Amino acid sequence: MAGALRTEAVVLRSMRYGEADRILHLYTPHRGRVGAIAKGVRRARSRFGGRLEPFFRLHIELHEGRGELLTVTGAQTIDAYGRLREDARGLDAASRACDAVGRLFETSEPHPPVFHLLCHQLSLLDCAGGGAVAALVWPGALSFRLKLLLAAGLAPQLGACANCGSQEHLVGFSGAAGGVVCSACEAGSFPLGEEAHSFMTDALGRALAEAPEATPSALRQVERAISATLEHHAHVRLAPATAA
Ligand SMILES: [Zn+2]
Repeated sequence: MAGALRTEAVVLRSMRYGEADRILHLYTPHRGRVGAIAKGVRRARSRFGGRLEPFFRLHIELHEGRGELLTVTGAQTIDAYGRLREDARGLDAASRACDAVGRLFETSEPHPPVFHLLCHQLSLLDCAGGGAVAALVWPGALSFRLKLLLAAGLAPQLGACANCGSQEHLVGFSGAAGGVVCSACEAGSFPLGEEAHSFMTDALGRALAEAPEATPSALRQVERAISATLEHHAHVRLAPATAA
């Protein structure tokens, strides 16, 4: 495996290491999540400048040796998403998006659509900028998570009861059953109203930029359904989708 690897990547996390180094979690289209070390990057005259900060989309060159971490040998910026960095809510939303990807797709298994979904979400947050972000954050973050579930093969069943197949009286959601459940099968489920149900169906069917709107109480149910699915089927527990 030793050798050079050139790839696009998004910096999911960047941690100080030693006197001048950084350890990076990168998400790549064809190598999934990659751990890398950038040596000397915190020195004033580092050739990497500030490019190895969280959320940067890069062309990156890595050297792959025997160790677990690859070594960064070069990096060019594709997009710094500068506007989302000017707003604390934009930064927070970007950080939650990167955290969700890093936890749900933590192996080297390639998922190119996840890479593109993440870049798209970062662009949307960047375009929204400033105050507009607040209105977008929660529905957008939940749409993003639903699309991650789909990419992970964990999309909840929404068209019929996940237990008995009935298409009527769908009143609850069960993480264990893997979707909506009817009134006869609701034991062990929690209530999922019509608005939350439509939000999930619409969000999965639409582009990320067209996240549906919903009331906070419906969004809370959607978030709970996503969490229950992840906990049951991926044993992953994510931070809340927004700070709000
Ligand atoms: Zn049923």
